[in-house]
Amino acid sequence: MADAAVKEKPAAAEGERELTDGFNLLIEALKLNGLNTIYGVPGIPITDFGRMAQAAGIRVLSFRHEQNAGYAASIAGFLTKKPGVCLTVSAPGFLNGLTALAHATTNCFPMILMSGSSEREIVDLQQGDYEEMDQLAIAKPLCKAAYRVLHAQDIGIGLARAIRAAVSGRPGGVYLDLPAKLFGQVMDAEKGKQSLVKVIDAAPVQIPSSDSIKRALDVLKSAKRPLIILGKGAAYAQADDAIRSFVEKTGAPFLPMSMGKGLLPDTHPQCAGAARSTVLKDSDVVMLIGARLNWLLSHGKGKAWGEAPKKFIQVDIEPKEMDSNVEIVAPVVGDIGSCVGAMLHAMGAWPAPPADWVKTVTSKRDENVAKMAPRLMNNNVPMDYHGALGVLRDIVKARPDAILVNEGANTLDLARGIIDVYKPRKRIDVGTWGIMGIGMGYAIAAAIETGKPVLCVEGDSAFGFSGMEVETICRYKLPVCIVIFNNDGIYRGTDVNNASSDPATTVFVKGSRYDKMIEAFGGTGVNATSPDELRRAVNEAMDSGKPTLINAVIDPKAGSESGRIGNLNPQSALKKK
Ligand code: ADP
Ligand code: MG
Repeated sequence: MADAAVKEKPAAAEGERELTDGFNLLIEALKLNGLNTIYGVPGIPITDFGRMAQAAGIRVLSFRHEQNAGYAASIAGFLTKKPGVCLTVSAPGFLNGLTALAHATTNCFPMILMSGSSEREIVDLQQGDYEEMDQLAIAKPLCKAAYRVLHAQDIGIGLARAIRAAVSGRPGGVYLDLPAKLFGQVMDAEKGKQSLVKVIDAAPVQIPSSDSIKRALDVLKSAKRPLIILGKGAAYAQADDAIRSFVEKTGAPFLPMSMGKGLLPDTHPQCAGAARSTVLKDSDVVMLIGARLNWLLSHGKGKAWGEAPKKFIQVDIEPKEMDSNVEIVAPVVGDIGSCVGAMLHAMGAWPAPPADWVKTVTSKRDENVAKMAPRLMNNNVPMDYHGALGVLRDIVKARPDAILVNEGANTLDLARGIIDVYKPRKRIDVGTWGIMGIGMGYAIAAAIETGKPVLCVEGDSAFGFSGMEVETICRYKLPVCIVIFNNDGIYRGTDVNNASSDPATTVFVKGSRYDKMIEAFGGTGVNATSPDELRRAVNEAMDSGKPTLINAVIDPKAGSESGRIGNLNPQSALKKK
């Protein structure tokens, strides 16, 4: 039956009946569902599809490597709550995009990776087709859902399934396999149109039970030392007003996870960012909102969490997340907008948390902020991290709408703490995996999806994973300012290899001039050797909106091994010095 519409090829009817094909159906299906941007790399068998999509009004952004296009799609999903779409060629292109798809799934970002693929009949018999690979089977364990569309009349349903899988419940990555043959399949235009699906209510609200709301509020109210942790799920939910009102009404200190920063400004009186160790250790009731108790929170136990017994409340859309690391005494399962809204509604008059707890947290925070302040104002040459980041911190304060992209080791750890964020979803970074290479893809998608200027703060090593995309940034004339913290290497630029004439494994060419790279493509390159030069260059770039790459020369001796997570890096006790 399903085949009928395709096979019934018009004999004499060609002139009378209007026809459509797989190319057009997929384009119409995307547009019908408001998926108006594609991030990808052209090639066999999707080159013409990209051209036709562009001609049909879809924004098609061509990258230099699929992984970067994939990261762009993943963060587009986070920023918009719609699946970001990445388009790749078969086998190698697909595999390049797959890392980003797995990353999206791990981070709970909605994304659809659409890859062209080779002849099923030949692939399944392993007869050696062009770019032969069983892509569907390979994608499956690495994403939330994977589908293949074999017939043009199933494109509508296939895309609908992909969209629903990506955005409903806990968001994630979806793979859509599109065999080359599909694109050219012809069918009756009217039937084709009828086969398309406009997805209604793709991410239905999930209302928490009133029992779970009452239980959570009772536990929170009983706290002597409450703490609220806001994760990137809370930022994703776009329930900004409700979250802010709720946190303010509780009066509790809150700790933003890296991409939860800005839901309430880091300068908010309740923000405990600068008193992180204290609040983790000494709190007695912790409410997690869209944050997981994974390695980033030391799994909710051990030294970081102190000796005192703790009760955890968790607000999350994924029921299986509960009790994943420690007991959750008050699970609240639902979408964050509905959950926080319900809690706000049910709170009634709320007692302020004990004054001594608030005072402990505030004084610890103020003490740490004061300790840091003079270091951020240093004008050392060569620059150290604090001098350079102090500059960027002022710039972000003056430009709270700009989007901050951040990756690296020391560049990441220190920037996370030093650069305050003032609005939701303005900081995007390496996420749950601590992945390197998201930089340029994120910067491009952030500029495209939000229309805001982007400041990209990159370690020199991290930048290398996606550096070629500066050409893409120049080609699309995006308002992206990249600052590379160049300390000549990974962690530091001072390692020495005594065993041979090869350089040590963690060092790069000394005195590299990354700023020259962007000049090759018509962008602005600046070499900044002092905090003053850095300030001038970044401000100029942000004012002009012109693609700019600033090589910020950092002391090669600055920086520590693995940044702040050196404890995760096993070191040989037997190694020769
Ligand atoms: P962080 O790294 O900032 O701590 P995580 O990625 O670990 O954040 O956690 C995000 C959590 O948010 C995930 O458990 C995910 O299920 C949840 N989440 C994502 N979107 C929503 C939503 N709209 N409503 C409720 N929970 C959500
Ligand atoms: Mg470095």
